[in-house]
Amino acid sequence: MSRKQVFQFLDLPRTMPQRIPVELRTSGDWGELYGKFDKADAQYQAGRCLDCGNPYCSWKCPVHNAIPQWLQLVQENRIEEAAALCHSTNPLPEVCGRVCPQDRLCEGSCTLEEFGAVTIGAVEKYIVDSALAAGWRPDLHDVQPTGKRVAIVGAGPAGLACADRLARAGVHPVVFDRYEQIGGLLQFGIPSFKLDKAVIAKRREVLEGMGVEFRLGVEIGRDVDAAQLLGEFDAVFLGTGAYRYTDGGLPGQDLKGVLPALPFLVQNSRIVGGNDPWGRPIAGWEDKLALPDLNGKRVVVLGGGDTGMDCVRSAVRLGAAKVTCAYRRDEANMPGSAREVANAREEGVRFLFNRQPLSIEAGADDEVIGVTVVETMLGEPDARGRRNAVPVEGSESLLEADVVIIAFGFSPELPAWLSSQGVQSSDNGRILVGGTRLPYQTANAKVFAGGDAVRGADLVVTAVAEGRDAAASIVQWLGVEAAPRQVAAA
Ligand code: FAD
Ligand code: SF4
Repeated sequence: MSRKQVFQFLDLPRTMPQRIPVELRTSGDWGELYGKFDKADAQYQAGRCLDCGNPYCSWKCPVHNAIPQWLQLVQENRIEEAAALCHSTNPLPEVCGRVCPQDRLCEGSCTLEEFGAVTIGAVEKYIVDSALAAGWRPDLHDVQPTGKRVAIVGAGPAGLACADRLARAGVHPVVFDRYEQIGGLLQFGIPSFKLDKAVIAKRREVLEGMGVEFRLGVEIGRDVDAAQLLGEFDAVFLGTGAYRYTDGGLPGQDLKGVLPALPFLVQNSRIVGGNDPWGRPIAGWEDKLALPDLNGKRVVVLGGGDTGMDCVRSAVRLGAAKVTCAYRRDEANMPGSAREVANAREEGVRFLFNRQPLSIEAGADDEVIGVTVVETMLGEPDARGRRNAVPVEGSESLLEADVVIIAFGFSPELPAWLSSQGVQSSDNGRILVGGTRLPYQTANAKVFAGGDAVRGADLVVTAVAEGRDAAASIVQWLGVEAAPRQVAAA
């Protein structure tokens, strides 16, 4: 390679796809923020890859995508081959290209990071969107049916990834979900400005074309009992997610105008775009689904993760006059993606770091009037290495608010219908897998699990990695011809 080619990245800057102008976003546009690369843009970014001997991007990517290899195929305009290569490691590549926190994963590890990382996620989205739009589909012609059938509980990323890999191994996957649409949190948690719901509809079409069967609107443990499921199928995969809501136990959290984050986001996704994804209310949340009008209101969001970022940016689009995010640590320790924080700031969101909520305050008619917060400083690291937020005495103040959204996160919970089948969980509700058994196999040998239900609330791409690798364990346990095994998730 000539000196000019080696150093071409110095002349070719990193570019992202165009974004919807901020004026439109702040006046209620819910469209996907980032547009799409065209062929020239994608080839330009792909051409910046140095093809490092040891691609850190691939290692940092939880599904270990063959990134330099598919970037090379993009340069050569071999898009269908690139799409097949993307799918060889990642059953949902167009979704991950959109929602992965690339700054912490592949792009954060790109050798060019200091000069501007290759725009890996946007190229992944370009490859798969283009190939699917041109009619390309995963090729399963050589797959021999094994006669085995596996039930998958949960049509979120973990369940869908597992279904994809089982179908490729000739095992018939039947995916159950309590909702009428597939996608799990992709469908009803992550807002459309991060992930257009048409992407999920296209993926459903692809999976059905591969032979995946969906039984939607069916809740296991209510409509079908676990014994029935275990009797009917050769194995079961649990991709049931993490839905136990962390409320923080704040005094005043039951006041009018205080909302839990997920029902708030769910209700928006039901309203926005005129689509009602499920057609029935979510059990237990009916009372919270009648949302207050945010137009002209002061909204305070408590929590600095991805969910908090989605709430603040949704509130902006719903016409809130002032949106504030209060987080108890500093910006460097915020769990949300730095890119999403930057987008939120651009949309006018105010961030208050080192503020810990103490209580939510009521006015005369029991309506919320604000949140009492105390300033914090960072103390000693906790067991996981994160520095604790230590309140500074005497620094309390009132953050005025008409609406408060609580976004402290979620954890899994083992339902009774699973514990009755011998499936075990840790004290914090995570389904226990592996140990002396196969990876992702539970204490009931016929039952496997992965995604948020096992890891706790995490990422789409880690759920995909676990669903994919659990399928390899299921295939091994069933004793049918092994699917190509992937490297375990990082
Ligand atoms: P889920 O997506 O939760 O899917 C579980 C499915 O199981 C659901 O559809 C549920 O209905 C179904 N189910 C559960 N129990 C039953 C039952 N008994 N019978 C039938 N069906 C059942 N990650 C990112 O990488 N990027 C982001 O930008 C991002 N943003 C997020 C924003 C929000 C608001 C939230 C809440 C999460 C976000 N995440 C993000 C995290 C990501 O969405 C999850 O980590 C991922 O969806 C987990 O996948 P899963 O398949 O394990 O579970
Ligand atoms: Fe990056 Fe996520 Fe794609 Fe991996 S799956 S290359 S981390 S965008």
